[in-house]
Amino acid sequence: MTIAMVTVAIALPVVMGEVNAPARRAQIGVMLQAAGWALLLLSGTVAAGSWADRTLSTLAMAGIAGGLAFNATAFDLWCGRAAHDRAPALIAAVLTIGYAIGFSNYAFRVGWANGLLTLQMALVAASLCRTPAVPVGKWRALLVFSLLAQMLVTAWRGVLGAFFTESYPTFLTPHPVNLAFAIIGNATTVLSVVAILLAHRDAAARELERLATIDGLTGLFNRRAWLVKANTAMAVSVRYGHPVAVVMIDLDHFKQINDGHGHDAGDRALQFVAAALRSAVRAGDVVGRYGGEEFCVLMNHADEASANAFDRRLREQLTQAAVAELGFALSYSAGIAMRSVPLDTVDALLKRADATLYRAKAQGRARTLDARGLMLQPAC
Ligand code: GH3
Ligand code: MG
Ligand code: MG
Repeated sequence: MTIAMVTVAIALPVVMGEVNAPARRAQIGVMLQAAGWALLLLSGTVAAGSWADRTLSTLAMAGIAGGLAFNATAFDLWCGRAAHDRAPALIAAVLTIGYAIGFSNYAFRVGWANGLLTLQMALVAASLCRTPAVPVGKWRALLVFSLLAQMLVTAWRGVLGAFFTESYPTFLTPHPVNLAFAIIGNATTVLSVVAILLAHRDAAARELERLATIDGLTGLFNRRAWLVKANTAMAVSVRYGHPVAVVMIDLDHFKQINDGHGHDAGDRALQFVAAALRSAVRAGDVVGRYGGEEFCVLMNHADEASANAFDRRLREQLTQAAVAELGFALSYSAGIAMRSVPLDTVDALLKRADATLYRAKAQGRARTLDARGLMLQPAC
């Protein structure tokens, strides 16, 4: 089992290449556990009870328990949670210190170390059983199964060492618990590696999905993702017969902003507009960056009055805060289209909103035209 763990500890960083934070933590965890088991075997080659034995065995405990604590933080991150759970690391520290102090008492140290390791595994397994914050695959089940199997033999060893010391006087005693450990240890090493690689693949797939749907500059949906979400919202609106509005927004003379203030200032302006859009819409509305300096919003359950109110909120926000935040004014033109016929499509709504936007530009910009092509009154 130790040879398998050491091999994996060396192979994982080599084959995985550059990795993100959870994968790095998992690799460190595996390395520490492999080092821990190697040190424990090494401690069997020095005089029992010597200082070398105490040092090697204590370091071994630190590696095994510390490695699992590291892995636990990786599992948390892979489940979409912050790696805030300090309990496994605390147990690793307490276990190592207690083990070093009580080393000369065999029954105590075996009971102490295996008891706390069992507790640590139980906490990690319980944490893995919590509902993840992001959709994840079945790798959690592999890990929980591995941890439960390891808990069984670890607890068994602890009880034997602490209370039936004569039947388990040394680590290498030919006792059934060691046969069970050899089988379970080898099987769970393989399962854990598979789980780690699956979790890493899950995270990579989620990241790819995010990159494919979210606009990198503004954090809004990109055009493709907006169209998917908008079509879904549209289908729901058709089914339940509630009104829907689509608003197309294009920033005015944005090329001049880039030319006059620089491309970075232009980028900041786009981020500023995205933030204003997010705060102006209501929950359930779909906001996207349609193209360079064009944005579109699908307003759910929105009649003309709600679309007008949204436009007023957005214009107020941009006129009031843009100069203070960016150092220059921003204005936009927009066109609104309302879902009219029962089988209206997102495509048709976009076309109408775009045509209305075009008229707003032609009429002098800095205005929003409603579905009938009438100019909305700016806020007083
Ligand atoms: P109009 O009022 O007619 O819409 O004029 P405009 O200058 O806004 O329109 P035009 O289509 O001529 O120019 C759009 C500009 O938006 C040109 C392009 O460089 C800029 N732009 C597009 N995407 C980005 C971006 O990601 N960052 C920055 N800084 N500028 C961008
Ligand atoms: Mg444009
Ligand atoms: Mg423009």
